Amino acid sequence: MPEIESKPVPNFVRNIVKEDIKNNKHDGKVITRFPPEPNGFLHIGHAKSICLNFDMANEFGGNCNLRFDDTNPVKEEEEYVRSIKEDVRWLGFDWGETELYASDYFQQLFDYAVQLVKSGRAYVDDLNAQEIREHRGTLKQPGRESPYRDRPVEESLDLLEKMRSGDFPDGSKVLRAKVDMASPNLNMRDPIMYRILHTAHHRTGDDWCIYPMYDWAHGQSDSIEGITHSMCTLEFEDHRPLYDWFLDQLGIHHPQQIEFARLNLSYTITSKRKLLNLVDQGHVSGWDDPRMPTLAGMRRRGFTPWSIRDFCERIGVAKRDSMVDVAQLEYSVRDDLNRHASRVMGVLDPLRVVIENYPEDKVDELQAINNPEDPDAGTRNVPFSRVLYIEKKDFREDPPRKFFRLGPGREVRLRYAYFITCTDVIKDEHGEVVELRCTYDPATRGGSAPDGRKVKGTLHWVSAQHALEAEVRLYDRLFLVPSPAAEDDYLNALNPNSLEILQNCKLESGLRGAEPGSRLQFERQGYFCVDTVDSAPGKPVFNRTVTLRDSWAKIAQTQGQPTKS
Ligand code: ATP
Ligand code: MG
Repeated sequence: MPEIESKPVPNFVRNIVKEDIKNNKHDGKVITRFPPEPNGFLHIGHAKSICLNFDMANEFGGNCNLRFDDTNPVKEEEEYVRSIKEDVRWLGFDWGETELYASDYFQQLFDYAVQLVKSGRAYVDDLNAQEIREHRGTLKQPGRESPYRDRPVEESLDLLEKMRSGDFPDGSKVLRAKVDMASPNLNMRDPIMYRILHTAHHRTGDDWCIYPMYDWAHGQSDSIEGITHSMCTLEFEDHRPLYDWFLDQLGIHHPQQIEFARLNLSYTITSKRKLLNLVDQGHVSGWDDPRMPTLAGMRRRGFTPWSIRDFCERIGVAKRDSMVDVAQLEYSVRDDLNRHASRVMGVLDPLRVVIENYPEDKVDELQAINNPEDPDAGTRNVPFSRVLYIEKKDFREDPPRKFFRLGPGREVRLRYAYFITCTDVIKDEHGEVVELRCTYDPATRGGSAPDGRKVKGTLHWVSAQHALEAEVRLYDRLFLVPSPAAEDDYLNALNPNSLEILQNCKLESGLRGAEPGSRLQFERQGYFCVDTVDSAPGKPVFNRTVTLRDSWAKIAQTQGQPTKS
């Protein structure tokens, strides 16, 4: 029952690239790049950009570079570089030899800057940050030119050299492009190219104390690498004139910047700064907390690379911002796991069942199907014995209409096993049901009655003496509202019940040896994976990846919210 119809997926970038190849632009070559700043872990929004850049390159026989946009020494760390590489690789993409760093171009960028100063297209400005802001003007008012704007080229060159040699303190001078202080586009009002920062860089150490601004570094890095199509998100549309201006002034290879809509996902934050806050303030256990929309978190949660790529393909690439329903992401992972995850039985909230007419010491091995979607997955044996566990909520002492599971005097099927009938209910001193007494019908082995009688309910179960006792973590959405980023304070929208830890779950014995990272379906419950961080040999911990059905669709409906974007 597909919840989301498949439709032809629009991707206007593909059309541009095809057209360029047809016209032999850039000699028909396609070189793209994914340019993360190593100041946090990659999130699902980055996945959209990664898929777009690598897919365009792969589809048209080109290459996609992995370029670390490491121009800001203050927030960048080696740990983030490591995680970014791991995540891109995990998604299944290969950047070949081209692991590149904007910091490798610091000297070339500096030389380009000297070139612009010499041609009268850049100058050293002595105004401080505050003064520069005041001169900048507004959308309605033109900016004012700095008194240093027309200082002689020789003087700017000399000052630029001295900025570089460390003669000046932070913030005392900047290098600015000489464009147009009256431009209606604020980015063109003599943008800053270099600022002074006496801070060590994770790769260049103390070699530099001036660092290039994003707009100055980005386009020139694209050019140096021979990029043909430079894809970025819509907020850079207003930067394109500057991107083009720098390249035209320098007269160097000129890639085409193409803007596309960033991914906004409902119930999700996709801002590294805000995600870092969640980590720093302890709202989650780390960047790889399974509730995080980071690729590391999603991997630990049990998402497959295929599901994320499938999701990115389905949502397409457009020129207009929109919000994608997180249910679409959940759909993609269910779709994948449904086809590939082995089925097992696990009781999360156990209720003891004693089969009174079953011998004390007998153990029967029953054959269970590993994956009805995949005949090659084969079968396994599960042990059946006198004492079992079933799910507490599969029994009702006073069953309402349409409750087809177990109740006093009722008969149900135990999956792959026998029909059982509840004969007695045992309660503790608080009146809580603690045990059921049942009988089984030996003639129903395998799950059907020779006399053709039917039962309406089929329950999962686990043999008590064989059960693996394990911790199971149920994850839910991290935020309660569809647009946490639109809240005054997104932290107020955190879901206090986004994690529920269950300690004494009773799982099928075969799971004892489950490998960290392996993915399973607990029948009737959802998809789970073995946690890669907290599991120990023989003691796996399970994370719920996603429920079997979209339990939020109903909630959203009753609240009158759209469930599809
Ligand atoms: P954030 O706002 O989370 O800090 P960023 O854009 O600063 O993100 P970068 O490391 O600079 O993070 O991003 C690398 C690439 O990923 C850029 O090309 C950027 O446009 C793209 N990207 C970032 N977020 C998204 C998103 N939500 N959807 C699509 N692409 C994105
Ligand atoms: Mg960025």
